[in-house]
Amino acid sequence: MISRREFMQSLARLAPALGGTGLVLSEPALLRALLGALGGAAFAGSPADELIRQAPRARFWSAAAGGRVQCRLCARECLLADGQRGLCRSRANVGGEMRSLVYGRPVSVHVDPIEKKPFYHFLPGSRAYSIGTTGCPLRCKFCQNWQTSQASPEDYRVRFTPPGDVVESVRSRKVPVIAYTYNEPLVFTEYLLDIASSARLGGIRSAMVTCGYMGPAALAEMCRVLDAVKVDLKGTSESFYRDACGAELKPVLRTIRQIAKSRVHLEIVNLVVPTLNDSDRMIAGLCDWVMGELGPDIPLHFTRFRPDYQMPHLPPTPTATLERARSMAMSRGIRYAYVGNVPGHHGNNTFCPWCRKEIIVRTQFFVLESNVNNGRCGYCGKKIAGVFA
Ligand code: SF4
Repeated sequence: MISRREFMQSLARLAPALGGTGLVLSEPALLRALLGALGGAAFAGSPADELIRQAPRARFWSAAAGGRVQCRLCARECLLADGQRGLCRSRANVGGEMRSLVYGRPVSVHVDPIEKKPFYHFLPGSRAYSIGTTGCPLRCKFCQNWQTSQASPEDYRVRFTPPGDVVESVRSRKVPVIAYTYNEPLVFTEYLLDIASSARLGGIRSAMVTCGYMGPAALAEMCRVLDAVKVDLKGTSESFYRDACGAELKPVLRTIRQIAKSRVHLEIVNLVVPTLNDSDRMIAGLCDWVMGELGPDIPLHFTRFRPDYQMPHLPPTPTATLERARSMAMSRGIRYAYVGNVPGHHGNNTFCPWCRKEIIVRTQFFVLESNVNNGRCGYCGKKIAGVFA
C-alpha cells in the first residue's frame, strides 16, 4: 500500500509531463476517482499484480497451442505465452486467457474543442469529452504523446472506472461527443465499444483518433458505434513506417479504405516531420493516394511536428513546408486541405470549394465564425462535406 504522500508526489511528477503535451489530468471527476482510490484496493499489493487480478477478459483473440493466445486486435497479431504481454503493454495472457489491462483505466480525461483532435468537418465548434488510457502498438520515434502511449497501465495508478460512469460524466456536462484519443484507442477497444454503445443510447456521439493499426474485425465493430474517425497517415512508404514507426503501412491503408466504405465520417492527418517525411516525393505520394482512393472530400490535415521523444534534435516543421503540402493537395483536387498546429494561419480555415469564400474561421482550436448552414455554404448554398448537426 503506498502512502498518500507517495501518491501525491507521483501525481506531482506526472502533471508537468502531461501538461507539456496538452494532456491534462484536470478533469475533476478523474481527480476525485484518483484520490478516492487512495483508500481502496487499487493500491494493495504490487500495482501490476493488482491490475492483472482485476483485468477483464478481452475480445478479439483465439487460443493457440501450449496455452498461448493469439491476439487479433491489431496487425501485430502477438502470439503470447502464459504471463506475457503484447507489444502494446495493454493485453496479457493470464492462464491461457487474454485479458485487457486497460479496460476501465483512463489516465487522461479532459474536455477539449473537437478541433484539437483535429476534426474540422465533424460538428465544428463542439466540445469533446476526451479520454485515453496507456499503450500503443506502434513505436514512432517522433511520438507527440509518448508519456501515455509508451507507458504501461501500472505506471498510472488509477482505479477502475466503468463505462457507465464515463457516460454519466459526459451527460452531466452536456458534452455532445466523446473522443477516444491521447494514446492509441485501439488498445482499449473493448472499453471504447462499451462506452460508445451506451453513449449512443443517450444521443452522445463518439469519435476516435487512431493510428489505424487495428484488425478488420475489430474495426467493423467500432464502425457500428463510432460517428467519426481521424486516422494518422504518417506517410505512404513501407520503409518509412518500418524505420520510423516500427510498423507496416498496409494495415493502415486497409483501415482507411474500410472506414471510407462505412457510414463513419473520416478525416486524415499527416504529421510532417522535418527530414523524415517532408520531401516532395513523400507528400505527393500521400496526396495522390488520398485523392485516388478516397476522392476529393476527405479533409486532409498537414500538422506541425514539435521536437519530442526520440527526435528532440529535429526542428519544428517550418510553416512553409506545411503550406507547400497543402498547396500540393489542393492542386490535386483535394477540396479541404489544412495547415495544423500553426495558430492563426489562414490554412486553419475552411474555404468553400465552389465559391472560394471563407466559411469557417478558426484560431488555435476555436471556431471564431461559421457560415455553414445545414451543411451548405452560407454564400453559394453548395454542399460542404462533413457532419454539421
Ligand atoms: S493489440 Fe497489443 S497484444 Fe494485440 S496484437 Fe496488437 S500489440 Fe499485440
